[in-house]
This record gives sequence, C-alpha cells and structure tokens, in this order.
Amino acid sequence: MAGKKAALVTGGTRGIGLGVALRLAQSGFDVAVNGRRPAEDVQDALDQLTAQGAEVLYCRADIASADDRQRMVDEVFERFGRLDALVNNAGVAPDVRADLLDASEESFERLIRINLQGPYFLTQLAAKRMIEQAPSDAGMRGVVVNVSSVSATVASVNRGDYCISKAGVAMATQLWAARLAEYGVSVYEVRPGVIRTDMTAGVTEKYDRLIADGLTVEPRWGTPDDVGRAVAVLACGELSYATGNVILVDGGLTL
Ligand code: NAD
Repeated sequence: MAGKKAALVTGGTRGIGLGVALRLAQSGFDVAVNGRRPAEDVQDALDQLTAQGAEVLYCRADIASADDRQRMVDEVFERFGRLDALVNNAGVAPDVRADLLDASEESFERLIRINLQGPYFLTQLAAKRMIEQAPSDAGMRGVVVNVSSVSATVASVNRGDYCISKAGVAMATQLWAARLAEYGVSVYEVRPGVIRTDMTAGVTEKYDRLIADGLTVEPRWGTPDDVGRAVAVLACGELSYATGNVILVDGGLTL
C-alpha cells in the first residue's frame, strides 16, 4: 500500500499525548488527536501538528463513553480511510490520593472506566477495522500502543486505583497481542516513569528531590518527547516478531 499512514492518539492535545502525536507527525503519519475540550481550546496543539506537515483531525470525545469511542473511530475512518496506529494514551491520576483503607468505590470506578475500560474497548473497535484493511508498506495491518506506567508493577498504597488500572493495561496488552497476531496487528506497551506534564505538576518538588537522590540512573525528569520517540519506533512498524513487548521510558528507575 502506498500513501500516508494514519494514527489516532487519545489525550493527544497536551503532555505525553502531544509529544507522541508530534513524533508521529514527524514520522509521516496523518494524525487524529482526541481530547475532551472544545476545538478552539486546543488550537495551539493542532497548529503544532499541522506545522509538521500532517493532516490533522481533532476528535472531541470522552474515552470513558462507548458512544464517543465509536464516533471517534468512525470519524477517523471517514477522514483518513484507515487507521495504522492507535495510541491509547489518555488517562487520569486520582483526584485525591487516598490510602487503601479509605479509598472510595466512586473514585475507583471512574478511574478504571477512563484508564482501563476506555483503552480496552477502543482497541476492540479499532482492531475490528484494522483486520479488515490492506497491509501497509511495512506489511502490517496495524499497531496498537498502550501507554501504561511504571505503576503497573510498583505499588503505591495511596493510589491503588491508578496502579490497578495500569496493571490492567499491561495485561490488556498481552491479551490483545495474542488475539490479533494472526491478523498482522501488533500490540505493545510503553511504560513511562516520571514525566514532566500537568499530571505531575503537583509533585514537582518531591520528584526533584527524589531524582537528585538517585531515583533514576539518568538524573533528570522524562519529557513527553522521550515517550513520543519510543511510541514512534513501535507505531512505524520497525519491530517484527516482537508483539506484546514493553518498552520502559523511565530513565532507569532504581525502585
Ligand atoms: P496529562 O494530564 O497532561 O494528559 C492526559 C490527557 O488525557 C489529557 O489530554 C486529557 O484531556 C486526556 N484525558 C483524560 N481523561 C480523558 C477522557 N476521559 N477522555 C479523553 N481524554 C481524556 O497527563 P500525561 O502525563 O500526559 O499522561 C498521559 C498518559 O501517560 C496517562 O495515561 C498517564 O497515566 C500516563 N503516565 C504519565 C506519567 C507522568 O509522569 N506524567 C507517568 C506514567 C504514565
């Protein structure tokens, strides 16, 4: 198949998602980015992507909503005619950190719907379309990259919901990799460590201290572009015989 490839990055208008979308645009993808805000509020991000030469589509959708997920995938196929890379990046940290003994079911349920149910069922929708499409130049029908977290394996007792959601994303990666391999769709997990974004704005001083004390072997915060580079390598189909793999982008976390 000749022609441009298309990617969908959830939560792609800021932070890690924007870093990923920019790298994909630089790698020659047309890019659909998803967010919850009105288009005029995310125009700066859309302009940055357009400046990379990509055709850009903004999908305003809540990934926790099944209707929104369906509409988003439909919009991508209407605009680009195919989907080569789905990057499940959107996610939230708990509003309030609560010890396991005090955590509420409401907060748990909300977080799981966004961080786990959203990507799991968006993958299902995307996969059904990917397996119907002709293979790309790289011989693949599609790639799914799940952005999880080092919290998938490192327990934090004041945000158990987040850890469980990311451990679930790690297992979802294994499950989808196993289910989709026969169709030429590869599924990977990228596991960031401490990345400077809005999500970590409230813990800047704490992690400045921890990094200075040797939390990571590379003594700095990670950036959205660090994650974007890893995702782009996977999304471009550079790997083969490697589905289900995990790439750590954590500067060599020493935990
Ligand atoms: P961020 O808060 O800057 O960005 C999160 C993005 O997800 C935003 O664009 C937001 O609008 C979007 N989003 C949230 N809920 C959504 C919903 N229901 N529907 C659609 N979009 C929604 O955070 P970030 O640091 O860029 O995080 C991106 C991903 O990386 C998340 O999955 C997060 O768990 C993960 N992660 C972040 C770090 C870190 O240190 N920043 C570390 C490990 C993993």
